[in-house]
Amino acid sequence: MTSSDSLAGGIRPRPVVDLLPRYAAGKPPAPVEGLVSYKLSSNENPLPPIPAVQQAIAARTDFNRYPDPLSSKLRAALADFLDVPAEDIVTGAGSLGALNQLLATFAGQNDDGKADEVIYAWRSFEAYPISVGLAGAESVRIPLTADGRHDLDAMAAAVTVRTKMILLCTPNNPTGPILTSEETERFLNAVPADVVVVIDEAYQEFVRAEDAVDGIEMYRKFPNVVVLRTFSKAHGLAGLRVGYSVSQPGLTQHLRVTATPFAVSQLGEDAAVASLQYYDQVVERVQSLVDERDRVTAGLRDLGWFVPEAQGNFVWLNLGANSGEFAALAGEQALSVRAFGDEGVRVSIGETEANTRFLELCANYTKAPQRS
Ligand code: PMP
Repeated sequence: MTSSDSLAGGIRPRPVVDLLPRYAAGKPPAPVEGLVSYKLSSNENPLPPIPAVQQAIAARTDFNRYPDPLSSKLRAALADFLDVPAEDIVTGAGSLGALNQLLATFAGQNDDGKADEVIYAWRSFEAYPISVGLAGAESVRIPLTADGRHDLDAMAAAVTVRTKMILLCTPNNPTGPILTSEETERFLNAVPADVVVVIDEAYQEFVRAEDAVDGIEMYRKFPNVVVLRTFSKAHGLAGLRVGYSVSQPGLTQHLRVTATPFAVSQLGEDAAVASLQYYDQVVERVQSLVDERDRVTAGLRDLGWFVPEAQGNFVWLNLGANSGEFAALAGEQALSVRAFGDEGVRVSIGETEANTRFLELCANYTKAPQRS
C-alpha cells in the first residue's frame, strides 16, 4: 500500500482509472538567457482574442448569477453563423467537454457488462483514449497511413456489433492531413446507421484544402453524424473553454439529458458571441497563421524534410527515436514543442520569430524526418 492509499483510507478508483494514459499537457518553455521563449506545444493561437471579445468580457460583472444553462445567445448566434437550427447545437466546456458528453451518452458499458467499442485513428488527439476509457468503453485504434492520414477502409472494416462510435479527426491532430469530402461520404455510407460518427473539426478554420470535408454538410446528410467544433483554436479562446456539437434531433434529444449544467460560463458565452460577431477579424488572424504554416511547411520541405499535409495550426515531424532529442534541442532554443514518445514531434505554429527560430533549428539538425 502506498502512502497515498493509506491517506485515502484504502479507497480505490474504478479499475479503469489505473489503466488510463495520463494527459500530458503541452509544457511552457524553460527560460534561456538572451532568448524570448515561445510555447509551441499546445496548438494554441499565439494571438490574443479580437478587441470585441476583450470588451465583451470587461463589461461583465454579475458573476453572482449562474450562466444560462442552454447557452441560448451563443446557440442563436451559431445557428445564424452555420445556418442550422439552434436545437441541433449543444455547447460544452470546450469541444472536449462536448466529446465527453457524447461518449457518456452513446458509449460505455453495455447491459451484458461488456464494453462498447469506439474506433478511432491512431495516433490522433491524445484525449481520445482517456475519454473513451473513462466512459467505460473500449478503444479500437486503427493505425494511420504512412503519410499521417486516416485509413478509412481499415476503420470501416473494424466495425463490429459492439461498435457504438467512431471518431474522425480532420485535420488530424497531431499529423495534420484532412479527410476529403468524397472519402468521408463513402465511409459514412459504408458504416451502419446506428453507429455514431463524430467528426472532430477543432482546426476547421485553418483548412485550405479544397477537397476537405465540411462536417456540417455531412451532418445535413447523415442522422448519425455529430460535428465537434471549438472556440479554442481559431478564435483564440482556449482559456475560456467553449466548444459545441452539431447533430440532428435524433441525437440531440439524448444529449440534452446528459448535459453538464452550466458547462459554459457567462464569460465564455459572451466572448464566443462577440468573436462570431466580428468573424472577419478572426478570419484575418487565422489567415496570418495559415500563411505562417505554409511558410514553415515550405521551409521544411526545402530542407528535404518529409512533412505530412499540414492543414491545422501545427506541423508533424516524423522523427521516430530522435523525437526526444529534437525536443530537447528545441528547449535549448527556448522553444517548447511536443514529442510523442518515439513517434514524432508536433510543433504548433506560433509567433513569426518563433517559427523562424524553429526553421533555423531544423536547418542545423541532420536527421531529417522521412516518410516511413
Ligand atoms: N479535438 C482536437 C482534435 C484537439 O486537438 C483539441 C485540443 N487540442 C480538442 C478537440 C479539444 O479542444 P477544446 O476542448 O479546447 O475545444
